Amino acid sequence: MRFHKAESAFFVFIFVILAAGLVTFHAYGQLQDIASDLDAASRVDKIVYLNKLLFVTGALLATALFFGTFFIYPLIRGQVREEGKLRAMTVSLSARSQTLEQAALTDGLTGMQNRRYFDDALREYLHEFRRIDRPVGLMILDLDHFKQVNDTHGHDVGDEVLRAVATCLRGMTRYHDVVARLGGEEFAVVTPNMDVELLARFAERIRKAIANLSILSGNVRLKVTTSVGLAVWDHKESAEDFYRRADRQLYEAKKQGRNRVCA
Ligand code: GH3
Ligand code: MG
Ligand code: MG
Repeated sequence: MRFHKAESAFFVFIFVILAAGLVTFHAYGQLQDIASDLDAASRVDKIVYLNKLLFVTGALLATALFFGTFFIYPLIRGQVREEGKLRAMTVSLSARSQTLEQAALTDGLTGMQNRRYFDDALREYLHEFRRIDRPVGLMILDLDHFKQVNDTHGHDVGDEVLRAVATCLRGMTRYHDVVARLGGEEFAVVTPNMDVELLARFAERIRKAIANLSILSGNVRLKVTTSVGLAVWDHKESAEDFYRRADRQLYEAKKQGRNRVCA
């Protein structure tokens, strides 16, 4: 078994104190002898010996004090400091990994969840709802003629529009809905516990709300519309197939002239 430096130092410390204790005990015995000894000559010898013993005790205690102060204490201090540093490092590392994870799942422009989060969340929702007989709806939204907004007003204004749409979506959805920006001008909402009728009405409300947004850019008021594709999960298909079905409805909405909901 190998001992740490601080442990060895502590054993030496205890050993010195123990030795001081033994010498003191021995000195006490000598003192008792002197008290009961009537021979003056041997008394003097014993007192001289006792004197030495007391000196040794003092020296041992001084050694212990010196050792403790200049050797053990600095070791303990160093250890405490190192441990503190280590703890601070762990805290900052775990905070950083949390921030990184957060960043990896968040869309930088809108602060919404991103595609990666959406894919995981959709799969997780389907997994949970497989066992219960409740519907899960999916809504995919794509802004209409968004390229024109960029071409006419510039990319920054386009970004402003995306942020406004994101805020609108966040405001209209419920706590347990998953709302994400899938990329570009495309958004998606997973709506647990909504059958096709409820979902269609909900999507229609959102479509109108986005059409009613008026985004101020300089002194122009901008309007955007969105096409929406809907699907309700059939409790059998995979997340990918489910997504593809909603996406086909979005394509249908575009084909039928945009600014509409298709289910
Ligand atoms: P459609 O009605 O068929 O959807 O037409 P669209 O113009 O919206 O579709 P298209 O896919 O042709 O263009 C999408 C545009 O979205 C192209 C690109 O410039 C723009 N876009 C994608 N990401 C961003 C972004 O982060 N910021 C801005 N400002 N524009 C973006
Ligand atoms: Mg698009
Ligand atoms: Mg578009």
